[in-house]
Amino acid sequence: MPDHILTVNAGSSSVKFQVFKAEGEALELDLKAQIDGIGTQAKIRATDANGAIVADRALAQTEAGNVAEALDTTAKWLRERYDVEPAAIGHRVVHGGPKYSRPVFVDANVLADLERFVPLAPLHQPNNLAPIRTILERYPDRPQVACFDTAFHHEHSAVAKHFALPEQFFAEGVRRYGFHGLSYEYIAERLKDVAPDYARARVIVAHLGSGASMCALFEGRSVESTMGFTALDGLPMGTRPGQIDPGVVLYLFAQKRMDVDAVQRFLYNECGLRGLSGISNDVRELERSSEPAAAFALEYFVYRVALYAGTLAAALGGVDAFVFTAGIGENSASIRAKVAKKLAWLGAALDSAANAKHATTISRSDSRVALYVIPTDEELMIARHTLALLAGRKVPS
Ligand code: ADP
Repeated sequence: MPDHILTVNAGSSSVKFQVFKAEGEALELDLKAQIDGIGTQAKIRATDANGAIVADRALAQTEAGNVAEALDTTAKWLRERYDVEPAAIGHRVVHGGPKYSRPVFVDANVLADLERFVPLAPLHQPNNLAPIRTILERYPDRPQVACFDTAFHHEHSAVAKHFALPEQFFAEGVRRYGFHGLSYEYIAERLKDVAPDYARARVIVAHLGSGASMCALFEGRSVESTMGFTALDGLPMGTRPGQIDPGVVLYLFAQKRMDVDAVQRFLYNECGLRGLSGISNDVRELERSSEPAAAFALEYFVYRVALYAGTLAAALGGVDAFVFTAGIGENSASIRAKVAKKLAWLGAALDSAANAKHATTISRSDSRVALYVIPTDEELMIARHTLALLAGRKVPS
């Protein structure tokens, strides 16, 4: 019988699961499930490998009152309906801190380490660790692997990693880490198939989802990222402002008399496309809207993507290829077209027909920068790492 790998991507009120069948080194998606509304009006929605819906129902309070119950419900469902007992569980963990540059098996000691990084990602890290803790308590022998969003950026140069702060801050972990590393690692791998000529060249990847960042790849490795110490930095996002003068944060404290929690809520939930448009954090809705504020928010987003393309091109000393990925990057032909237009100075020329069709290659043959749309798959990357550790193979950092 093949082994199964379960991946877990846990947020505050939702948990995403995927089940992969492992035959040797090959991984095949079996099931995707998402439980939303944990602790309130929980519901599960699951699809099989062909996208057919296999579960879509409300859950009782006792089935998903918290993350631990949601995990139990899922484990029971997998066991009873699919006869699946995962050989190992891979988790998305936002922060590996200064220490973890690759995925690791988690035991109580590693978990204690990862808890020390909670102050570095106070909104995400506790949610990521909650299922690991629950599974360690209930199934202590089940191998669990933590895969970090920061790890792929671990080899950034010292200048890329530093803020201009007294050195003691760097030592205590106040650094530019970079996030979305599992996505960038997946894209770097995919480029070897999709565009082998560019896989080792100077590539900018724009992960444009509800969280958004960009990464500079050289020879398949990350050399720079638009995100820094937290997932607040860089590009404007659905509800986060992206790069902002720290003086604005001082203003919130001093003039608006906001406390730490209020500032945190504001910066994570009330800014970005939502704050700017006053309409929505969702690009689909903004594209449908005829309100000038919606158009302005999208224009701002495109402008910042283009600005950071310049920054990352400087880090790379030029750019050979540009990849769009994640929800907006994969689906919005209009955002891609506007970004591509702003990259004309770098030599980018869009093939509008290919872009409208969401083709993989969307640049014209005379474009000096190759433009690609490559769907990301962070879960598959987690499953690959988990399987590799399970098989005792060395995982490249
Ligand atoms: P995350 O994984 O960070 O939640 P995704 O990568 O799934 O985010 O991206 C979600 C975002 O992608 C949505 O908020 C929406 O703005 C955008 N999106 C999804 N589909 C489309 C589409 N067809 N057109 C434009 N934007 C889209």
